[in-house]
Amino acid sequence: MIFLKTDEEIELLRLSNLIVSKTLAEVAKIIKPGVSTAELDKVAEEFIRDNGAVPGFLGYGGFPKSICTSVNEQVVHGIPSEKVYLKDGDIISVDCGAYINGFHGDSAYTFTVGEVKKEILDLLQTTKESLYLGIEQAVEGKRIGDIGNAIQNHCESRGYSVVREMIGHGVGRDLHESPEVPNYGRKGNGIMLKNGMTIAIEPMINMGKRQLIFEKDGWTTRTADRKPSAHFEHSVAVRKGKADILSTFEHIEKVLGI
Ligand code: MG
Ligand code: MG
Repeated sequence: MIFLKTDEEIELLRLSNLIVSKTLAEVAKIIKPGVSTAELDKVAEEFIRDNGAVPGFLGYGGFPKSICTSVNEQVVHGIPSEKVYLKDGDIISVDCGAYINGFHGDSAYTFTVGEVKKEILDLLQTTKESLYLGIEQAVEGKRIGDIGNAIQNHCESRGYSVVREMIGHGVGRDLHESPEVPNYGRKGNGIMLKNGMTIAIEPMINMGKRQLIFEKDGWTTRTADRKPSAHFEHSVAVRKGKADILSTFEHIEKVLGI
């Protein structure tokens, strides 16, 4: 069942997502060679709680931390650890959730650590572009397949591959609601989008092949060929004419100076 949100509920989702977006900006401030992913998690959890919210991921399905930290060939759901230190040339995808006033925010950003190879920067750029191309399709009267098709076309035309095993989702009172929002698909296929649907669009794009390995920790996924993977996510409200993006990269990119 798909829950359509009222205007008031969408404003509550915007607030949850603002906390997520600002949390990711706090994390951005301390990403550098030598920092552990556990330190990133600590900063995120403290910031979320200082803002009166609860980490949306902590304990979700048994997940042990407040953010997911996925380094290089890790795709999503990496677990922060005192044993994982960032190195010059790494990329790290940070996925964050915050729950307040009965609603979940959900957004992710892939960061660079020190000097990163041009070919990896291109992967990040294309993945972020594909997110916004997907969001352009999130308007009343379009279909779910239009979103995935826009993402898939953009990324595959550059020679990248789209992860199939994990996809976007509805977001609201639950972190994961209907409908499913794949990052691939055909134009005109799937359910019709309606005003008031709120969805998380989150392309996971691989530099090499799309196949994944699920690690033995029960959470982390990585590319089978160990080539890098990027992940960007916004929570958005479907509207008439133009999607309303509820999370924002503005705070992050101010920190990054881009
Ligand atoms: Mg997420
Ligand atoms: Mg999500």
